Amino acid sequence: MKNLGGKRLTFRGKKIELKKNGLVIWPARFYLIALQPVKRGFYNLHVSECQMKRCNYCSQAVVKAGQRKDGTQKYQCKGCKKYQQKEYQYRACEYSVSQKVASLLVEGVGIRGIARVLGISVTTVIERIKRIAMSIRKSCSNGKNGVYEIDELWTYVGSKRSELWITYSFDRRNKAVIDFTVGARTKENLDTVTKGVLALNPVKVCTDGLPIYRNLIPKCLHHVGLPNTRHIERFNLTLRMHLKRLARKTICFSRSKEMLEACLKIYFWSGVEKRSGLVQV
Ligand SMILES: [Zn+2]
Repeated sequence: MKNLGGKRLTFRGKKIELKKNGLVIWPARFYLIALQPVKRGFYNLHVSECQMKRCNYCSQAVVKAGQRKDGTQKYQCKGCKKYQQKEYQYRACEYSVSQKVASLLVEGVGIRGIARVLGISVTTVIERIKRIAMSIRKSCSNGKNGVYEIDELWTYVGSKRSELWITYSFDRRNKAVIDFTVGARTKENLDTVTKGVLALNPVKVCTDGLPIYRNLIPKCLHHVGLPNTRHIERFNLTLRMHLKRLARKTICFSRSKEMLEACLKIYFWSGVEKRSGLVQV
């Protein structure tokens, strides 16, 4: 076949450009088998669809499983039995979209911003965030016998008139969040967080001067005051920088407690913020 690199054609209503070797055409799911001249400047394209070999979800082998009405090949995974396509018309169906939603969320992009960047709807972004959060389990690999800090961070939910507190505990060594609750600063809520820390057999538990802590943490372990909580106070600032809904002096705030909890779960435990691999949904 002669060199057709750079030649522009229209294929199934889409403009495509042939690459240098003339064999690959865009969109990438097709490749060119033959280009047959019909008359001057006109060609018949003989194309074949690139086959999918591995499952997007579990990397096992896939087999062909029928076609859609528009002729797109469907595949089914032999392992997890999920149906999938090599390419989708609606971008939200693509496998990588959930990963991108999680990455953008922890980079300070709001829901509407994520929808605009990825070209998907706001409702899809919200649904994905909830789904990702549901798949995340609390981290069980926290080191024992460490120095732990507990602090509260105020925010709003629903409107700027309803104030809520995020109480969370934090391992000073690796900055891993052990547990968190969203709600008022009641004894029950603070107890949930302190119990998680006391179960790790701590050397020190550092908190601010909130009187409720005195009844929850044994006196020999309890350290109160700013020098002891400086790491978690700094982490509060990082949280406010990275989660759009926690940014102060803006109009950003969570519309529901459920979404706030979902975003915090993704930030704390999905591993996205540490760049140590993206969540799989
Ligand atoms: Zn699979």
